[in-house]
Amino acid sequence: MKLTRQRKLVYDTLLEKLDHPTAEDLFFRARKKQPEISMATVYNCLEALVKCGLVKQVKVGKNAVRYCANLCEHAHFVCEVCGAIFDLDRDNREKFKNMQIKIPRGFKIHNFEIAIHGTCSDCNILRI
Ligand SMILES: [Zn+2]
Ligand SMILES: [Zn+2]
Repeated sequence: MKLTRQRKLVYDTLLEKLDHPTAEDLFFRARKKQPEISMATVYNCLEALVKCGLVKQVKVGKNAVRYCANLCEHAHFVCEVCGAIFDLDRDNREKFKNMQIKIPRGFKIHNFEIAIHGTCSDCNILRI
């Protein structure tokens, strides 16, 4: 894929903060660096980045699609209070593997996405 200036800007913006922003969040962040960028451009860039596999879409429930540039296999922890999405990385992977999920006969796994829902540490502190 051609990494045009716009795509690079969107990609770099996404890498800056791995907090799974929405396209809109990215638009506001990218605009600070390049004020003439449009929402449509951000959408187009994201679409191209997803297509070539540099960026993954994260869909959680009915919320807007979020974007993740962490390409290592990981699960997501979704805080139901503040809406933040955290990456659970490889340290936890052994534990994921132990989750026994029955895959029906004849089905083939291409990849998997796990989202764990709960409350993050910040939100837990607020609740006490
Ligand atoms: Zn992620
Ligand atoms: Zn939270």
